[in-house]
Amino acid sequence: MVATPIGNLEDITLRAIRVLNEVDVIAAEDTRNTGRLLKKLEIETPMLGYHDHNEKRFAPQLVERMLNGERIALVSDAGTPLISDPGYRLVNAAVEANIYVTGIPGPCAAINALATSGLAVHEFSFRGFLPKKSTQMARALAAAVAEEGSTIFYESPHRLKKTLGILLENHPEAKICVGREMTKLFEENMRGTAADILKIIGERTVKGEITIIVEG
Ligand code: SAM
Repeated sequence: MVATPIGNLEDITLRAIRVLNEVDVIAAEDTRNTGRLLKKLEIETPMLGYHDHNEKRFAPQLVERMLNGERIALVSDAGTPLISDPGYRLVNAAVEANIYVTGIPGPCAAINALATSGLAVHEFSFRGFLPKKSTQMARALAAAVAEEGSTIFYESPHRLKKTLGILLENHPEAKICVGREMTKLFEENMRGTAADILKIIGERTVKGEITIIVEG
């Protein structure tokens, strides 16, 4: 299980580079994306596509290959595989088959956003992507505000203003932090209440990748 950068290519570890060079094959969420990373790193290890649509069929095949002695590195498009990304079936099946599974730790948008938010970190929950429907989104946000610690959500840039609108209406006092394009050129951390953040955004169309922290 190999973590890769969430934007800034310098965020690859020395161990990740070594392991990606040494394994027999790299199982990648998207071989074009990982191909670009491997090209930059001058790594020529063969890849195969491993994603949500073929996970069920592929996991047992990859386990079989590992039982026959092959070493396989699992990577996703960005950050830590399995965290709102493919990989669960493979790691689970490998563990069940008594195959040695190890992690090459590295970037994870959720943890990076939490640790730079300035909000409570003593206790936290990760909820993956916020639901798209308003009622379910409102419920998820209400649960986050009622938590003891902070809650981490992934969110789409197109929905951010709607999410902030729901927070403004139902939880105007809640402290939040929006991490946008973390580790990249246009990185931006927006902190405060929903009203504060809506003010920072203003008339802008929000673009890029977004992680939201809601303090309980
Ligand atoms: N497994 C990945 C990880 O460890 O960060 C997360 C994969 S999930 C499919 C992708 C989502 O993570 C994006 O839609 C966004 O919400 C968040 N994300 C990824 N990179 C980010 C970044 N550089 N800045 C802010 N959020 C990011």
